[in-house]
Amino acid sequence: NLSRITETFSESVIREMTRICDAAGGYNLSQGFPDFDSPQAIQEAAIRAISAGYNQYPVTFGEPELREAISRKVRRYNQIDCDPATDITVTCGATEAMIATLKALINPGDEIIIFEPFYENYGPDSILSGATPRYITLYGPDWHFSSTELAAAFNEKTKAIIINTPNNPTGKVFTRSELQEIAGLAVKWDTYVVADEIYEHILYDEAEHISMASLPGMAERTITINSISKTYSVTGWRVGWAIAAPRITQRIRKVHDFFTVGAPTPFQHAAAEAMNFEPEYYTGLKNHYAEARDFFLRVLREAGFQCELPKGAYYVLADASGIMKQLKLTDDTAFSRRLIELTGVATVPGSSFYADKTKGSHQVRFCFCKKWETLELVAQALATKL
Ligand code: GLN
Repeated sequence: NLSRITETFSESVIREMTRICDAAGGYNLSQGFPDFDSPQAIQEAAIRAISAGYNQYPVTFGEPELREAISRKVRRYNQIDCDPATDITVTCGATEAMIATLKALINPGDEIIIFEPFYENYGPDSILSGATPRYITLYGPDWHFSSTELAAAFNEKTKAIIINTPNNPTGKVFTRSELQEIAGLAVKWDTYVVADEIYEHILYDEAEHISMASLPGMAERTITINSISKTYSVTGWRVGWAIAAPRITQRIRKVHDFFTVGAPTPFQHAAAEAMNFEPEYYTGLKNHYAEARDFFLRVLREAGFQCELPKGAYYVLADASGIMKQLKLTDDTAFSRRLIELTGVATVPGSSFYADKTKGSHQVRFCFCKKWETLELVAQALATKL
């Protein structure tokens, strides 16, 4: 007689793979977090904040210094104009920003459009908020969507569409014309757009990050979600935020307050300092990941995986069917387990990024946000033990 809602989704496979990897002492290319240290300056800022006495509850919707810093940064990098007093809610990571936003928007029976494959939280988040998710396929290898299918997914029940650009797990970066097309449908059907832009600074080649809220007329119906986790390599600090028009923000703040009261106070102060980093910091991050991507994709291809270069974020959703055939395995979960046993390399089974678990069963996701030493050890393990 437990909740029928929580019965309808499973535990996070990403987090489960981390537990399996840790138990096996393997290389964790499953959960997307760096194994190198976060910038010294931000660590010192956190220590200073603790010593300065920032150890009690924060302003529930975010310390003023951080909201001001976010507002300045998004004006500079995202062409988003937002008022720190009324348009920003600081949350416990982008994870809470997403669920608090959906809770603020959804009525039972509403529908949410989600591009598939998708970051696994979006499914349970939609269900927990009381919505019915509707999935739109991103077709590999370039991860495009069909305009006809997208237009057909919108109807009078559609409350919101979630976009994640740069995208986890595909590495797709939505182009301006794709965003305009989505914006046009959102206006036509009077729906919200929830834009998860957590990988905004991790871009390759000519890819350009465009914020949905910067498109004409879209700020009023877009909720922009982000966090310090990926940009400053501090996934354990749990500081994220949602930017939205005041009438939406008021609702998000209410939900957020009852969910968590506030995100960790000292880390909010350190985050405010990180947001003042010079542009060179972001260029450095991008260049490191670009090199890691090129190296790691070569390693995967040599090991027999089929994969295209991601355009952003730090994941690759690779086709493992060739190797699976050699190993006489037919599903992604069995393959992921065997890969850890054989090589120590932990991945995420592809099916965890699809609602229909029969999809993605020939794929696994690797993250390459690791230091050179780890990537080289992984390269050696894949080359010699697979
Ligand atoms: N976003 C990261 C991933 O996709 C981490 C997810 C998590 O465990 N919070 O792996």
